[in-house]
Amino acid sequence: MLNVPSQSFPAPSSQQRVASGGRSKVPLKQGRSLMDWIRLTKSGKDLTGLKGRLIEVTEEELKKHSKKDDCWICIRGFVYNVSPYMEYHPGGEDELMRAAGSDGTDLFDQVHRWVNYESMLKECLVGRMAVKPAIPKDYHEEKKVLNGMLPKSQVTDALAKEGPSSPSYDWFQTDSLVTIVIYTKQKDITLDSVIVDHQDDSFRAETIIKDYSYLIDIELSHEIQEDFSVRIVENVGKIEIVLKKKENTSWKCLGHPLENHNSLIPKKDAGLYYRQCQLISKEDVTHDTRLFCFMLPPSTYLQVPIGQHVYLKLTITDTEIVKPYTPISDSLLSEFKEPVLPNNKYIYFLIKIYPAGLFTPELDHLQIGDFVFISNPEGNFKISQFQELEDLFLLAAGTGFTPMVKILNYALTNIPSLRKVKLMFFNKTEDDIIWRSQLEKLAFKDKRFDVEFVLSAPISEWNGKQGHISPALLSEFLKRSSDKSKVLICICGPMPFTEQGIKLLHDLNFSKDEMHSFTA
Ligand code: FAD
Ligand code: NAD
Repeated sequence: MLNVPSQSFPAPSSQQRVASGGRSKVPLKQGRSLMDWIRLTKSGKDLTGLKGRLIEVTEEELKKHSKKDDCWICIRGFVYNVSPYMEYHPGGEDELMRAAGSDGTDLFDQVHRWVNYESMLKECLVGRMAVKPAIPKDYHEEKKVLNGMLPKSQVTDALAKEGPSSPSYDWFQTDSLVTIVIYTKQKDITLDSVIVDHQDDSFRAETIIKDYSYLIDIELSHEIQEDFSVRIVENVGKIEIVLKKKENTSWKCLGHPLENHNSLIPKKDAGLYYRQCQLISKEDVTHDTRLFCFMLPPSTYLQVPIGQHVYLKLTITDTEIVKPYTPISDSLLSEFKEPVLPNNKYIYFLIKIYPAGLFTPELDHLQIGDFVFISNPEGNFKISQFQELEDLFLLAAGTGFTPMVKILNYALTNIPSLRKVKLMFFNKTEDDIIWRSQLEKLAFKDKRFDVEFVLSAPISEWNGKQGHISPALLSEFLKRSSDKSKVLICICGPMPFTEQGIKLLHDLNFSKDEMHSFTA
């Protein structure tokens, strides 16, 4: 079903040689695709050399395994023998060897924190790091010794001191309702800062406060109904989650606290939380791009903030595979299409299907009614970047258009200071242009908006702009509406495109604050 990439493919400059996060992909040998790796892990071969035995690994032992053909790496306290994986690693052997015989957690987190290594490497698991008998008092000392092995509460306590003041929560009840109140102590809390899930017995509410995550995680003492509501009292930073009791009895306590309950932890340490979402519809947008609509479970409250992405997880040949995608609105401007479905229960994606890819062909094979796991949102775009904005320039290539959809929607309807919005949309051919007619209609309808299409492989009849991102194209395109106008330039696409774009913008004297690039 899946083609193995040949040695000469992709072309040296292709985006496909670059992994998300800016990491270069190396060309892999024949028979060394991720799918081949998955097959090998299912073959029953002993990949650790320990015949399925799990051992406790000391630091001294770990250090001994630092050669290519005998390479152990520790990630979050678990040790893997990655030698058999070397040739299959999309980032290449050298990148993996940087962590040989040591704790690779930091390195891993820098490059691809979201990759599901537990599933990908489960047949390579050697065992756990041996826990040190005494925990040093100083957190930073301990961190140097063994990253990823700290008791969580310690990390929380130490880092929370540097973060926002800790929120708190309370609860009260009537005969039929239970209200959980979170006091965030932040005035700028919005409805997309809180994500609530009720799955099985566990009730989980995650509130994002700056770069931190405040968690309510509790096994409720009584049953509740599926639906609940979430309200914000903005100017006092209070969040109210109103649950409906299944039976009108009085609760003596809210429930039993689960791990990390009532804690404030750096968002990057919070881990990704997933819920199962059902495929509701799928329609062609171009020859290789589809619009997918998924329904959130009734017991989930989640709104993906503008400019952020989520992770989709599928189990492919018994291995969990995770990839990032950027939710969009179902059309460019709601006037074009009456929203058939209430927005807060449905989540839309524009996804390009790569026939030789690992994830997208599987996604494409899903039937209506099938399920996919969708994570909490991530990303560093901030709505405050729009404040007082006058000129908004969007540089998008291929599916790099996806973050621009919500940005366009939001900017044109919510920023009174906005004078001009221009999109330069780079594609290979006319057939690749996503939502061309919607973009043209929008430009016709809203005089502030303009779109230019640039093709890198047009047919000879194309009389629009051609080529790749370049100084000439950008200097002509990026004209401020006035000398001192407040500008934001957003850029998204294949990594080489984004990197070149950022460099060109620097050369054109735009400051860091005036640009935002989208990456994982
Ligand atoms: P992959 O398996 O990654 O392969 C893609 C292509 O590269 C294939 O043709 C494959 O043969 C080739 N290839 C892969 N590895 C190698 C190698 N080592 N050597 C040679 N060839 C190789 N995409 C969207 O369509 N919509 C979105 O909204 C979207 N949002 C994103 C948001 C973020 C933050 C990021 C980082 C990416 C986003 N992407 C989006 C891209 C998406 O995450 C996937 O990378 C994409 O869907 C490809 O996944 P795949 O597993 O199908 O393909
Ligand atoms: P594509 O291969 O169809 O290329 C589209 C255009 O990008 C080309 O016409 C060209 O102008 C430009 N381009 C491609 N390779 C280039 C290179 N090496 N140097 C300069 N310009 C180049 O694009 P696609 O297959 O739709 O890929 C879209 C990319 O956008 C993927 O890599 C995806 O991961 C990324 N993406 C990122 C995010 C995000 O970070 N938030 C969101 C969506 C998509």
